[in-house]
Amino acid sequence: MRVKIASHSGFCFGVKRAIKIAEETLWRSKGKGNIYSLNPIIHNPQVVSDLSKKGLRVLRDIRKINKGAVVISSHGAPIDVIDRLKKKKIKIVDATCPFVKHAHDIVKDLKARGYRVVVIGDKEHPEVRTLLSVAGKDTKSRKIGIVSQTTQSRANYIKGISEVLKNDFSEVRIFNTICNDTAERQILTRGLLNECDVMVVVGGRNSANTRRLFDICKESGVDSYHVETKTDLKKGWFVSKKCAGVVSGTSTPDSTVKRVVQKIR
Ligand code: SF4
Repeated sequence: MRVKIASHSGFCFGVKRAIKIAEETLWRSKGKGNIYSLNPIIHNPQVVSDLSKKGLRVLRDIRKINKGAVVISSHGAPIDVIDRLKKKKIKIVDATCPFVKHAHDIVKDLKARGYRVVVIGDKEHPEVRTLLSVAGKDTKSRKIGIVSQTTQSRANYIKGISEVLKNDFSEVRIFNTICNDTAERQILTRGLLNECDVMVVVGGRNSANTRRLFDICKESGVDSYHVETKTDLKKGWFVSKKCAGVVSGTSTPDSTVKRVVQKIR
């Protein structure tokens, strides 16, 4: 059986940057503690566990913090949460991905120009909640501006846009805020689906972009499996298969992908 790996895998730019910022913050604190990430710094439990061993604690409820520093993940944080941290005089270390920030800037601009902002994405995802907080209250304007969660699939985005267009509007502006890295992984996944008869998607179960890759694989009808680490692999998945394709989400370390590939081989 051949094993084919997507030519683009491992951490994306924004995740690498967020981890580097978190590690530098830990290093600067010289082990004095009280360094938190607002929710998991990335959606990969193994990486979050490694960082927690170095001292990065996951903060899920900001009422529980009174001192120290909070690292904002690559997804960003809602405006009211940032305001509450500032009021508590907690140091904020912003690791929001610049591509996510770019989407914030578009939303701010639309809002300032009187557009009603529509965000197409997973409602409960931190990035979408942050974008909605930037958009503020619904203006009921007939001018509509549409943006996407950076990790949406193109197909979902187009579907969402066509739903929005069924409403009454006087003007519509559409921005492609899907990040290139995410889009490229989706294209590479489709490419491997043409060649392989079994697919393995590597990444956190809580990672939206990993789940999206898995959805693309499942929808194709090719036998597909989502694993977080090599220990999730089952021998039976590969019996009488000719080609296994391996793709990974943007928050999956290269080392995890390599171990999965080695075990499949
Ligand atoms: S997937 Fe794209 S937008 Fe999201 S953190 Fe990575 S580089 Fe940034």
